[in-house]
Amino acid sequence: MIRAIRGTRDLLPPDTDLWNRVEAKVRNVFARYNFHEIRTPVFEDTSLFARGVGEETDIVTKEMFTWEDKGRAASEKSHSLTLRPENTAGVVRAYIEHGLDKQGKLQKLYYIGPQFRRERPQKGRYRQFYQIGAEVIGPPSAGSESPARDAEVLEMLATLLDELGLRGWTLQLNSVGCAADRARYNQALREALKPVVHLMCEDCQRRAETNPLRVLDCKVPEDQPIIEKLPKISAYLDDACRKNFAQVRAMLDAVGILYTINERMVRGLDYYTRTTFEFTHGDLGAQGAVLGGGRYDGLSESLDGPKAPGIGFAIGEDRLILALQAEGVVAAESLDAYIAPLGAGMNSHALKLARELRRAGVRCDLGDESFRLKKSFEAAGKSGAHYIVILGENEVQSNEFAVKNLSAGTQESIARDELANYLRR
Ligand code: AMP
Repeated sequence: MIRAIRGTRDLLPPDTDLWNRVEAKVRNVFARYNFHEIRTPVFEDTSLFARGVGEETDIVTKEMFTWEDKGRAASEKSHSLTLRPENTAGVVRAYIEHGLDKQGKLQKLYYIGPQFRRERPQKGRYRQFYQIGAEVIGPPSAGSESPARDAEVLEMLATLLDELGLRGWTLQLNSVGCAADRARYNQALREALKPVVHLMCEDCQRRAETNPLRVLDCKVPEDQPIIEKLPKISAYLDDACRKNFAQVRAMLDAVGILYTINERMVRGLDYYTRTTFEFTHGDLGAQGAVLGGGRYDGLSESLDGPKAPGIGFAIGEDRLILALQAEGVVAAESLDAYIAPLGAGMNSHALKLARELRRAGVRCDLGDESFRLKKSFEAAGKSGAHYIVILGENEVQSNEFAVKNLSAGTQESIARDELANYLRR
């Protein structure tokens, strides 16, 4: 038997009803904040991620699905391609490629789609997973650099999670400063790591040389006490970054959004500047982050684009669904009615009735004229329908239908032109 590849999975009903309900709510909330959808390709030039996400990140060093795409003709060069491990780099590439900066306004873009990372699969961690993300990006003259953008994005996320009915979330907030702050902080980390790094894991030993900030991403338990004692980023923020972070916090306070400051949260991607954040959920265990994001003021320039500060986030949709399910949220997209044709020749009458009802907004399904009454009731039960509508020769003649409420067991006779109103719940 051929099985799905480890780390990938099939999403089946009824779970997919919940996925769809989440996505519908996401689109509805994002639209109210003037976000519009962008769809970028699932694979891109490998160098986009190497340069965008960062050469020394876990994503780029060990997690990308990369292959050499051979030219089809002898004259064509082969090309290194990669399945996207995240979507921000692709969005910024598209922003640059289509000259969206020339519109001179803020671009508020969102996406929903699969991402791919070669991670060790476990609950809440997959090799193909889904992200719902959004980016606010534009020229500084359009206000893209303002801390108000950060606060608006965070406020939108809080509203989205509230409207989805998720309760147990916590917002963790940090500022990683600007490039100059981080250079100074990296230097301080390098110094602080010198006497202790030989006690740490191999990855940390490498990171301590190449990109010490990434040491803070380390999950190895034995390394944690060492990491706890390392210098904190807040001491290295310059005045402008410090003020910027205070402004973001003041706006969150003003709208009543609670957060905790987590100075270790530097996020696993190199492009972040200033505000970084994660929303975590207690029911997710080790994979506690439902979503993460932050500001990326230099990303466009590092991809040869114009100055285009921005802020964005990616929600791990798989984890969001797990968290909702852990809180008992289910999508009950139940069927209104099951139409049971009774006797030869009734299939076409049933189809006609179903057509009328469905066009009138009733969710219904159909049996088959070959089913005996008992089998129709069993099939109606399995379908989860609220009512069964019996359709035989007499009903067709009289245009009156026997409608039975399957949970209450009660039965009524309903005229054809009343039926849609009666069934639609
Ligand atoms: P990142 O792009 O690493 O900032 O991740 C953003 C969010 O995507 C995380 O907070 C997770 O919810 C989710 N995520 C990242 N990697 C995975 C994965 N391998 N499987 C499932 N969800 C993931």
